[in-house]
Amino acid sequence: MASRKKPIAWTIAGSDSGGGAGIQADLATFHDFGVHGCTVITAITAQNSFAVGHVSVTPRRTLAAQINALDSDLQADVIKLGMLASEDVVTMVSKYLESFPGFVVCDPVMVSSSGGELMPSGICDLLIEKLLPRADLLTPNLSEAEAFLNRSIDGLDDVERAAADIVALGARSVLITGGHLSARNNERHDYWTDGEQGFWLSGPNIDTLNTHGTGCSLSSAIAAVVARGYSLPDALVIAKAYVSQGLRMSVQLGSGPGPVAHMG
Ligand code: PLP
Repeated sequence: MASRKKPIAWTIAGSDSGGGAGIQADLATFHDFGVHGCTVITAITAQNSFAVGHVSVTPRRTLAAQINALDSDLQADVIKLGMLASEDVVTMVSKYLESFPGFVVCDPVMVSSSGGELMPSGICDLLIEKLLPRADLLTPNLSEAEAFLNRSIDGLDDVERAAADIVALGARSVLITGGHLSARNNERHDYWTDGEQGFWLSGPNIDTLNTHGTGCSLSSAIAAVVARGYSLPDALVIAKAYVSQGLRMSVQLGSGPGPVAHMG
């Protein structure tokens, strides 16, 4: 019997020792969708459920060695970018992506919900110059979208304008996850556009404090579903439903917010 290839997704992101976000959330999500996950670890963070205590950025040589090892044997169908940790990492990763033919999801994580800095502040200009042109999908939350545009975003109409403005900066498409600010009728609203088409993804607000790793899991789920051959709009809907269920099932494990739950 001919063997069927299992899709391969890479996550280029940081390690979360608490196991709730970053590389650890990405791998759990890839596993849930039957996608093989490979990792390029950009930084090791020492964190638990309430704080990021220490960040060690991966040396250039180690970063390049990970990329080269995978590129020569386990080529990605899809690449998900998370915490890129330093300007050097952004530059090296964007160089690699210039010749990568597959789909790229970029989650521009800047600050953890516990307040830890995951990228140098002021890195937006470099991301716009180097990474946005290669991002098939950028998944900022509202405050990350504000950082890209260097302005505040006020209200749902403005979210649509902001998304169009981010596409104009160079991303092929953008999903602004507005969960934090746009609770209306006790619903949450995310907006996607590629500059031509656009739609809202709305769902009931899920009342939990256990949201650690939500953004990582959402962007990884989109990457995994695209790797499985779904269209991007379908992948957005499936990934949103997956994370909503993860929030409904999430539990507190330490003394701070617990992680979004995975299935496997
Ligand atoms: N730690 C790492 C390594 C991450 O990549 C992220 C998010 O991308 C976080 C922590 C923060 O997760 P959250 O803001 O969901 O708590």
